[in-house]
Amino acid sequence: MSSVKSNTTLPEFQDFIKQVYSLPNDRYFSAVDMLTNIERFIMRGLKGIRKKDNQKTKDNLLVAISWFISLMNQLHINIEEVVWQRFPYVCSYCGKKPCVCKVKKIKKRQNIYINKKLRPKTIHDFQNMFESIYPSENRTLEDSGIHLAEEMGELSESILSYRGSHNDKTFHDVSLESADLFSCFMGVFNSLNFDVSKELSKIFKKNCHFCKKSPCECNFNNIINFKF
Ligand SMILES: [Zn+2]
Ligand SMILES: [Zn+2]
Repeated sequence: MSSVKSNTTLPEFQDFIKQVYSLPNDRYFSAVDMLTNIERFIMRGLKGIRKKDNQKTKDNLLVAISWFISLMNQLHINIEEVVWQRFPYVCSYCGKKPCVCKVKKIKKRQNIYINKKLRPKTIHDFQNMFESIYPSENRTLEDSGIHLAEEMGELSESILSYRGSHNDKTFHDVSLESADLFSCFMGVFNSLNFDVSKELSKIFKKNCHFCKKSPCECNFNNIINFKF
């Protein structure tokens, strides 16, 4: 049996998703199919924000995160590594914690110093890191949702570009956009004041959150019609 613990690390969670979903994903879903699934669950999560239904937002974003990690597995991207390289306890753009991009009107990406000692260990620690770089009190939940949608669009563009060019430069862009999207998932969870790893440990107590099997045995119709 595979399960997610509330003190899980990102590599452990990525491995959990691999054990449970790699087989059906490899057989039935291309990278673009996965992108579509990330998008549809993010959009449902945004609907929850519009309807002021935090439970709906949370449930849909947890499934969006699991599709996102499936995509990372298919592309062999180590999400913890790319997130840490992009956000080493400072904003990826201004290089500060908390971020001063808005106040100082920073127009150029700054060089960033990486202090390895600060690297978070668990998903919970990563979520806290994002709260200290981008404090949720400085934005509304709606803003964090809009930012998530923006980054989803940028990840989609990078995947389309990569699939058109098949080179290392565009692949690198996919990993950067993946780190940005991850930061926005954490941003929405911070704005909602939900502990993402605790919530993941609830829905992934035993294997697939829906069929409870590992590898997942959900049939294709169930997957594409799944709704909270
Ligand atoms: Zn900044
Ligand atoms: Zn399943």
